[in-house]
Amino acid sequence: MEAALEKKKASEHPAAAKYARFVNPAFVKLLGVYGYGRIFLRARDVWVWDHEGRKYLDFLAGFGSVNIGHNHPRLLERMKAFFEEERLNFVQVGPSPQASELAEALAQRVASPLEISMFFNSGSEAVGSAMKLACAATGRSTFLFCQNAYHGTGLGVLPVMGENRIRKPFASLLPESIAVPFGEPGPLKQELSKRRAAAFVVEPIQCEGGGMMPPKGYLQEAQSLCRRFGTLLVLDEVQTGLGRTGNLFAYESEGFVPDILVLAKSLGGAIAPIGVVITTPEIHEKAYGEMSRFDLNISTFGGNSFSCVAALETLSIIDDEHLVRRSAEQGAFLIERLRARLAGHPLVRDIRGRGLLVVIELGPTDKGALNRLAPSLVQAASKQIFGQWAALKLLENGILCQPAVSQWNVLKLEPPLTVGQSDIERFVNTLGDIFDEYRDISTVVKEATKRMTKQFISGWAF
Ligand code: PMP
Repeated sequence: MEAALEKKKASEHPAAAKYARFVNPAFVKLLGVYGYGRIFLRARDVWVWDHEGRKYLDFLAGFGSVNIGHNHPRLLERMKAFFEEERLNFVQVGPSPQASELAEALAQRVASPLEISMFFNSGSEAVGSAMKLACAATGRSTFLFCQNAYHGTGLGVLPVMGENRIRKPFASLLPESIAVPFGEPGPLKQELSKRRAAAFVVEPIQCEGGGMMPPKGYLQEAQSLCRRFGTLLVLDEVQTGLGRTGNLFAYESEGFVPDILVLAKSLGGAIAPIGVVITTPEIHEKAYGEMSRFDLNISTFGGNSFSCVAALETLSIIDDEHLVRRSAEQGAFLIERLRARLAGHPLVRDIRGRGLLVVIELGPTDKGALNRLAPSLVQAASKQIFGQWAALKLLENGILCQPAVSQWNVLKLEPPLTVGQSDIERFVNTLGDIFDEYRDISTVVKEATKRMTKQFISGWAF
């Protein structure tokens, strides 16, 4: 195993104090629990560098926002040219050439009858707008969603947020919505049959919910049940879209086409904020077809030229570099190597994934004495501590990755789709060596407690 990178204080960096004072005090405090100690400054392809010039392999990639790699040279060149051209960037008072080009490029890539694109600025805004679209097209105002779903934190999407910690403080503001178990058509059918839901909002794979994949045929059945009961199916591909799962869109391997498709994150090539809702001309006509309704869901920056040009170039890069095929091949290689390296590990419950969306689920197995004697204790410690601890150890050994937002015992691996086999080997070897040190949850708890005590004494120093 490579020598652990030397860890020095980052608390003297001006960004640490300024961020804590002017941006998000609680976040910086939280980072102090284990002592994060890094300020990331530079990035290129699969690599990022911190304030001391230390280099990290990026297996987090902005929670799936960096499919083409950081600062792709071709994208940077395109954007430089865009600035040289002195284009009108926003406040459009007529049809935008850049938005039209991007909408056409998207229409060529999605399945028929999806065709019309509505542009927004984030995933959350786009999913919320997809819900509005469904509401306007059906005349209904109730929403169905899945337990453990993650669709963002904006007010518009909170009705379909499956993570209670994020949803609960605002519950009194939200319209009626009903959670159903992910992957089970029975309870979904029961709710749909009441014929009250405008939309069923669902992810093809629950990313922040812990890399949960539905049983084969579930999404296809969900779509036909939605059709039967007059509900529109909104597919949130904010994180799974644009090659992440080894298909350009995850729905392609599920044998159905959603009524409304949502993309964001990687569409902006890791430089531009953009979200898009793609739907059929028929649904769009029903919702916003009248002249008096053309602006029921627009925004100042939605469809700005900068973001649209970045997205267009990103789509071409994905095509030209065969990143969808690469994702399928490298993802299979990553899973194979992880399974071989972690085989029989007493705290590894599962390794699963599709394309380069791969997860390692931590928790009690029937190997290991403590796991057998006190599985609930091991389960709790794995959930609360091991995932974060493993991410910290990886960070200290030059690798960025994080547990899933709603399942801290699931390590989520989603590097840029440009990742090479030698990067994957490096990742698996580093992770394997770290996991060799933690074959027993009590070692994790002991070390994490020691670190937290030290941090407590230092006043949770960043
Ligand atoms: N949907 C999914 C599936 C996501 O993973 C996320 C972000 N993690 C969002 C929506 C929200 O996107 P944004 O952070 O751009 O609002």
